[in-house]
Amino acid sequence: MIIDSHCHLHFDSFKSDRDQVIASCIEHGVIINTVGTHSGTSKRAVELAEKNENMYATIGLHPTHVFPMEVHGDEYDFISKAETFDEAYYDTLAQSEKVIAVGECGIDLFHLPENKSTEEVLEKQKEVFLKQVDFANKYNLPLVIHVRDAHEQLIQILKSEVRSPKSAVVHCYTSNWGNAGKYLDMGFYLGFTGVITFPPKKTDPKSQEDLIEVVKKCPLNRMLIETDAPYLAPQAYRGQRCEPWMVEDVIKKIAEIRGKTLDEIKNILYQNTLNLFTRMKLKDS
Ligand SMILES: [Zn+2]
Repeated sequence: MIIDSHCHLHFDSFKSDRDQVIASCIEHGVIINTVGTHSGTSKRAVELAEKNENMYATIGLHPTHVFPMEVHGDEYDFISKAETFDEAYYDTLAQSEKVIAVGECGIDLFHLPENKSTEEVLEKQKEVFLKQVDFANKYNLPLVIHVRDAHEQLIQILKSEVRSPKSAVVHCYTSNWGNAGKYLDMGFYLGFTGVITFPPKKTDPKSQEDLIEVVKKCPLNRMLIETDAPYLAPQAYRGQRCEPWMVEDVIKKIAEIRGKTLDEIKNILYQNTLNLFTRMKLKDS
């Protein structure tokens, strides 16, 4: 079996053919963690996971939903919510046995609202993030961390705060080995997406080299794999909507980089995911 440790199958991009996508995942032996980004999508993630045996949910508030703004994403545009983390609401969701983690939460200084200063955005995002750290610890759940253009700030928050997550994954890791080392020192996992299959960007070849260096050096027992579907389809499917079963390409790439067989890597990654998401109860494990 394979686990796609992070995707958004409850998003509207799968509205018309979600059942078919779920069927393809079952066919490929792919188990799914579908991740919420605000109150509405967190609820939908739980509802979908409750209905499907091969599916689990993560609940939380993404940093782009802290202020209202139009987000022009890499692949999809959306209007963000302006929410605060309503603990009582998430308490209700956390009662579901299918909830295995809290997130995605974190710091995002890439998408900034027009009328706010970076300091103001960071302050608010930090407050909302720390609330979710406490919430995750209250339920003994791991944290799913999103970070974009803000590694320095996030690492500083994590180091300076008394409250730190008991366990966590930095999802869609695309930074360098220097930052990776800091997260690994904190005991975190790193989640790798289809981005590791991309060719180097002509305008910035160094960033892909840096990322591949992380895939080479990261201890195998601290790696997770994910698609972040509907975003970030691996290179072979670039331009298409990403689907969770495409996570196979991420495994292939890691096996190739690490000089291991597909089965070896598959088994390690599967076990890592269960080690982090301790609430995931699979029949054959
Ligand atoms: Zn995501």
